[in-house]
Amino acid sequence: MTTLRNLPSVEQLLQIESTAHLIARFGRPLTLDAIRITLDEIRTRFKSGLLVELPSTEFILTQTESHLTAWTNSTLHPVINATGVILHTNLGRAPLSDATIRAMDSVSRGYSNLEFDLETGKRGSRLIHAEALLQKLTGAESALIVNNNASAILLVLSALANKKRVIIARSQLVEIGGGFRIPDVMKQSGAKLVEVGTTNKIRLSDYESAIQESVSNKLLKSPSSAAGLVMRAHRSNFKLVGFTEEPELKDIVETAHKFDVPVVDDLGSGALYDTAKYGLAHEPTVQESMQAGADIICFSGDKLLGGPQAGIIIGKKVLIDKIKKHPLARAVRADKACLAGLSATLTHYLKDEAEREIPVVKMMSLTLKQLQGRAEAWRDELGYGEIESGLSTVGGGSLPDESIPTFLLSLKVKSAEKFLKALRKNNPPIIARTEQDKILLDPRTVLPEQEGALLVGLKNLLKDSVG
Ligand SMILES: *Cc1c(COP(=O)(O)O)cnc(C)c1O
Repeated sequence: MTTLRNLPSVEQLLQIESTAHLIARFGRPLTLDAIRITLDEIRTRFKSGLLVELPSTEFILTQTESHLTAWTNSTLHPVINATGVILHTNLGRAPLSDATIRAMDSVSRGYSNLEFDLETGKRGSRLIHAEALLQKLTGAESALIVNNNASAILLVLSALANKKRVIIARSQLVEIGGGFRIPDVMKQSGAKLVEVGTTNKIRLSDYESAIQESVSNKLLKSPSSAAGLVMRAHRSNFKLVGFTEEPELKDIVETAHKFDVPVVDDLGSGALYDTAKYGLAHEPTVQESMQAGADIICFSGDKLLGGPQAGIIIGKKVLIDKIKKHPLARAVRADKACLAGLSATLTHYLKDEAEREIPVVKMMSLTLKQLQGRAEAWRDELGYGEIESGLSTVGGGSLPDESIPTFLLSLKVKSAEKFLKALRKNNPPIIARTEQDKILLDPRTVLPEQEGALLVGLKNLLKDSVG
């Protein structure tokens, strides 16, 4: 009769050669842990009658190995983005340029002069890195890099408007995504929100009376009601259409400056180039905000800029100096890899090579002919599918409703849902779109070096699915 006494002990299993291989791969403590857990599982199942026979030693070690692989496999890994959404927030936004990756790699591998002045041999400041590049590119007096644009806004408001009024158009009280809402951020920063205008219409006179009221409050010795800032937030993820009106930034700036109130412009994406060049709507550029006279401009590093995750704050030196000194600045500071990567990405703009080097800009600039060529090459390689015209989008909370024409490879399959699921289970996972019973793959967002893996994955799945 089979009894649990016949189950091999941990010590016995440790004598086996394949256990030695597991120890070499996963380390002794973890392997021991996995063996104990596997044996416990077998005992439990045996006692409850789910297991009639004791499993072989080989089976025990296979189970042990599955535990070890599951525990040590990273949950975060590359995927192939065939959705045609260029800045897919769920898929990690901007893929980086080679020079950016090299810069991040070399600064991470060893020590760096992150906060060390090579001239004097004394302590330096991490805040200088990328600052000169941003000054040169935008003409701003000063710059500060933080963790992301959400933290940039929180920091700016906390440093410049704590216990003061921030005047903002009602139409700009937006939720950016993931529950990040401008009114909540204001509350968190200690700023007092003053909404002006209506949902669809805001006039210069709305700003003017709000500022004027705050100024009179200040004269009445109630500094907590003084106007700290006028803020403009870009409506990056929705459109306001129809009976609408909104003053130009330069006119808002002029009005605010009459009363010595600075203007903060949250650009969201903050392109350094004109997206209209690629057949998209014009996304407000950083240079335009500078020209309009905004005192502080905030934007993301990993949206249309195409760099690593970062929040970029540029503007007047007196204000940036104040922001740099705020305690939150330390809490949201950028790390060395981000600073190195962002500098490399910005250098592409300085050298006028963004279209050639920065993947998101390159994806936007692909011609229909190039896209058709790639989709056709995929079809020919697979010996299956049709070429369809379709649309790619920018995504990432940029340019809502805007799309660029593309060519798609369309695959008719038995069950689109099942096929999509199988694509997600591929190694590396392939993320695609469906339309009725078709799988749609957009060459625009598939990196050239991933094409081989994409085609191998598709071939394997098509064998089972079309059959
Ligand atoms: C995306 C966005 C943010 C947040 O930027 P992150 O870099 O994602 O933190 C803030 N404001 C606007 C208008 C945005 O579009």
